Amino acid sequence: MARDYYGLLGVAKNATDQEIKRAYRKLARELHPDVNPDEAAQAKFKDVSAAYEVLSDPEKRRIVDMGGDPLESGGGAGAGFSGAGFGGLGDVFEAFFGGMSGAGGGGRKPRGRVQPGADSLLRTRLSLAECAVGVTKHLTVDTAILCDNCHGAGTNGNSKPVRCETCGGAGEVQSVQRSFLGQVLTSRPCPTCRGAGETIPDPCHKCGGDGRVRARREIAAPIPAGVANGMRVRLAAQGEVGPGGGHAGDLYVEIVEQPHDVFVRDGDDLHCTIRVPMVDAALGTTVVVDTILDGPTELTIAPGTQPNEVSVLRGHGMPRLRSGARGDLIAHLDIVVPTKLDGKQTDLLRKYKGMRERDRAEVMSAQSEHNSGLFARLRASFSGR
Ligand SMILES: [Zn+2]
Ligand SMILES: [Zn+2]
Repeated sequence: MARDYYGLLGVAKNATDQEIKRAYRKLARELHPDVNPDEAAQAKFKDVSAAYEVLSDPEKRRIVDMGGDPLESGGGAGAGFSGAGFGGLGDVFEAFFGGMSGAGGGGRKPRGRVQPGADSLLRTRLSLAECAVGVTKHLTVDTAILCDNCHGAGTNGNSKPVRCETCGGAGEVQSVQRSFLGQVLTSRPCPTCRGAGETIPDPCHKCGGDGRVRARREIAAPIPAGVANGMRVRLAAQGEVGPGGGHAGDLYVEIVEQPHDVFVRDGDDLHCTIRVPMVDAALGTTVVVDTILDGPTELTIAPGTQPNEVSVLRGHGMPRLRSGARGDLIAHLDIVVPTKLDGKQTDLLRKYKGMRERDRAEVMSAQSEHNSGLFARLRASFSGR
């Protein structure tokens, strides 16, 4: 049976991280062994700490939300907080003081000077045609690149980094603070070396010791056929070079698809509207559509086409990304009735009318197929009142 971790902290299942942290702080203030030596309180403290440990970890919280118990599985109870005694006490201090670690939580290694670089993102506008055929986009990128003077070392000439005097190479400095939990040993990144554990007495004059410089450069980004608005194309290791010349992050190129004059895209399908004169709809005709990938293509409008019908050019839509398949081109047929008739045209239509005596305006049955959709909508709107 999974434990009710939300209940232990007294928070709702949809509680935010902040609410969970707040609830835990409040309980820890009452139950922490340094404050409350009572045995029942200590047991309760273990429980609420376990609950906090679980609910503050997105992965463990997900397991709880799916009805599981992350502390019961895998390594058994011993793997969880409860079996580890107060080994997880560091978490308590983190909950109270943010990044500080608790007594006995030391042993942290210096962060090191070389760090991986961040990913970067830029957007590029593409026409529908470019999305359809794919394109190589020449883009200007502004990122940190490796310093070509020190090649990332950050040092000038043959000089070497030295151990940081402030932190003795640990990368962090510690201080003792008094709190309601007693004395707490807290650590924070060393302000001199910013956690690196070493400093550069004679830094590279080009990058100031950072190992990287900002630069604009041109890149050719290959955009595959079939991309759509909002998609991101990843260019490995074209992002920011990290501090100390660390491995570059990736560059993501986000597609901003420009609206097309004729076609509206829906996934792999393309939609357009074709105005069809009444007589062409009755007799049938063909129309040439200037398609994006296949050039001018003949579209057939069948005799007897009704308003709002569609005519489909199968396989003339957009290509599917990384596959040879194509969507459809769907033409919506807008039947146009002539508004201005001269005398001769009016006579002709009257003659035609004479030959079609049975064609009359008539009131239709509400049950007819044509009306069912309309009346279903009306009924829904009445009952909604
Ligand atoms: Zn340099
Ligand atoms: Zn330092």
